[in-house]
Amino acid sequence: MVSRTTDDYRRMAQAGCVAITEPAFWAGFDRSSPAGFYDYFRQLTDVEPKRAAQYGIAHYCWLCINPKEAEDPAFAREVMKLIPEFLDKPNVLGIGEIGLNKNSRNELIILEEQIELAKQHERLILVHTPHLEDKLKGTRMTMDALINAGIDPGRVLIDHVEEHTVAEVLDRGFWAGMTLYPDSKCTPQRAVDIIECYGNERIWINSAGDWGPSDPLSVPKCHVEMRRRGHNQKLVEKISLENPLAFLGQSGRFILPEHS
Ligand SMILES: [Zn+2]
Repeated sequence: MVSRTTDDYRRMAQAGCVAITEPAFWAGFDRSSPAGFYDYFRQLTDVEPKRAAQYGIAHYCWLCINPKEAEDPAFAREVMKLIPEFLDKPNVLGIGEIGLNKNSRNELIILEEQIELAKQHERLILVHTPHLEDKLKGTRMTMDALINAGIDPGRVLIDHVEEHTVAEVLDRGFWAGMTLYPDSKCTPQRAVDIIECYGNERIWINSAGDWGPSDPLSVPKCHVEMRRRGHNQKLVEKISLENPLAFLGQSGRFILPEHS
């Protein structure tokens, strides 16, 4: 939530949000030096948990160099060197969001090196899949890299699945994520369509809270859409509480705060 206001935390708490996980991502601009990431990782592991705690929300994060800033391997490796120092902070779930942006050769090299980092430290992996380039191709390249590295697909969430990628992600044993946006990428309505077509095992939803047009209340809005279509509370909880808990619980760190 580094690019959101504290008021968003308040609104999320009022809507019933009890925990968030924040990936290390592109902040809307390329950082000018690896040192910029050092402060970013401090923000993710120290500042944001305190902001969230004021509203009873547990804050967790993922660390990496995102694919959009991974085109320069020398720069990316400098950032990667900073990560181990932060990995043992209590709110760090794993490595992410790694993946591909333009499906380029350099991005793939850095993706493979970050998969190796997660493997060495036995951490969960969060994957971003491309929006502007061929998403299906990028998703397949990423899944191949993970399998080739010997990663258990049950410990990887492939985010931004869409109608044409979700089946293959689930068939290969990975978890599928749908980060919801108000009108681009996956909307609450499309997410419900996908659940209706592909089921509710190993799939879950979350609200995007980034620097662009996004809405931290997308999850409750998706719940409204599910109820409007006649889905029951059990399904609502399965895809927004039980499934995230099952996947993130593998980190040994993700614990929900007590809530009534
Ligand atoms: Zn992403």
